[in-house]
Amino acid sequence: MQVTRRQFFKVCGGALGSSSLAMLGFSPSEALAEVREFKLARTTETRNTCPYCSVGCGLLMHSLGDKAKNAKGTIIHIEGDPDHPVNRGTLCPKGAGLLDFVHSPDRLKYPEVREPGTREWKRISWDEAFSRIAKLMKDDRDKNFEAKNKDGATVNRWLTTGFLAASASSNESGYLTHKVVRSLGMLAFDNQARV
Ligand code: SF4
Repeated sequence: MQVTRRQFFKVCGGALGSSSLAMLGFSPSEALAEVREFKLARTTETRNTCPYCSVGCGLLMHSLGDKAKNAKGTIIHIEGDPDHPVNRGTLCPKGAGLLDFVHSPDRLKYPEVREPGTREWKRISWDEAFSRIAKLMKDDRDKNFEAKNKDGATVNRWLTTGFLAASASSNESGYLTHKVVRSLGMLAFDNQARV
């Protein structure tokens, strides 16, 4: 029986490491016969990217629920994607703890705002959040954009607002984000991996 790399990882993840399997005399094909009742067998597998740092490790997220109206889907297992070119199935301790992050009661799932002078965070819609951010950015840029420095040299810079991008974005979204930020004249630009 041909066993793919991913199938072999599934088998090994069930109970024993690959070296232990080999030492006990199991070949991958024999062990594969036992995987039929493996707890992930009926889950939906979704590929994703670890959100923590700029390494951008690939993930496999396993969820229960068949998307029927009365079935509540939930993620029950997350592991490294053995087919991903960056991490080849491995995860660091932060990535390995992602399941707790996903189910944390403190996880932020929607935009919130704390108005000046208040202590409370208030939930707002995504539309409100985007409109508010765009308006505040424009107001600040209109007020503080510097076309020339004090010596008359052209600088076209905007120093009073900074931008924090996602480290796990694709090359394409990273390129677009960079273009937008720099074309506005903004110099303070970093990503969340260094926070
Ligand atoms: S936090 Fe760890 S698992 Fe996540 S992308 Fe960085 S190195 Fe990979």
